[in-house]
Amino acid sequence: MDFDDQVILVTGASRGIGRAVALRFAEQGGTVVVHYASDHAAAEATLAALPGEGHRTAAADLADPDAVERLVADVVGTHGRVDVLVNNAGIFEEHPVLGTDYRQWRESWRRTLDTNLVGPANLIHEVVPQMVARGGGRIVNVSSRGAFRGEPEHTAYGASKAGLNSLGQSLAQELAPHGVYVTTVAPGFVETDMTTSHLDGPRGDAIRAQSPMGRTATAQEVARVVVFLAAPGAEAMTGAIVDVNGASYLRT
Ligand code: NAD
Repeated sequence: MDFDDQVILVTGASRGIGRAVALRFAEQGGTVVVHYASDHAAAEATLAALPGEGHRTAAADLADPDAVERLVADVVGTHGRVDVLVNNAGIFEEHPVLGTDYRQWRESWRRTLDTNLVGPANLIHEVVPQMVARGGGRIVNVSSRGAFRGEPEHTAYGASKAGLNSLGQSLAQELAPHGVYVTTVAPGFVETDMTTSHLDGPRGDAIRAQSPMGRTATAQEVARVVVFLAAPGAEAMTGAIVDVNGASYLRT
């Protein structure tokens, strides 16, 4: 299979899209590190669902640069390598500029950028040298359609994901000569814990109606694209930002 003997670090893999990505890599023969923030039981449940052997869980707050350094040292110390990094973990907060207390506003901005953009950049800094030393690797960042045109009340989230898009494009150019290929996946709405409040009720009906498919993408569909981009043969897609939203974005 495509990922035999490869070690794949998936952040935020205890639930949602990250969990689906972890499952898909394991189905393709990969050895998966199920990263999680703090929900140990959920991470263990993901781990138990993975086919194959050698997988493990690893906790770290990605907004903490020291924790990121320890995470990579721990994974490389145990497995000797990270072949694929999937920067999936993220947070989504809504704060209208009018009506949000200043302290809340700036804390949300700091938290969102630290988690969604600086954390992935720090992880990349830590994993890339050992990828280059072994002749290459793959990085897939999970962005959002919110990165392209923004959405009201999601200022920090949209900015963090636009930054992630740019990070991937810059790194693709810098790292291709070293055999490290970097791509970005930009899902539209996907039913996970992150979006329950959006997709329940009439608001969800409107979002689904906007899609030519009449539904949102599933976490499994996003996972298949992530795994495709990390697989042998997708090298020439380096630098790409791939929409996964059933063409709904084309209608807005
Ligand atoms: P989710 O809330 O179910 O999962 C997010 C994961 O990130 C969780 O496991 C959480 O523990 C982890 N995480 C959050 N902050 C962390 C931190 N500081 N340190 C370590 N881990 C942390 O959401 P999801 O829908 O599965 O989202 C996965 C990714 O997909 C996110 O980057 C999100 O922005 C992106 N995305 C989701 C949607 C959607 O509609 N669900 C759409 C576009 C993009």
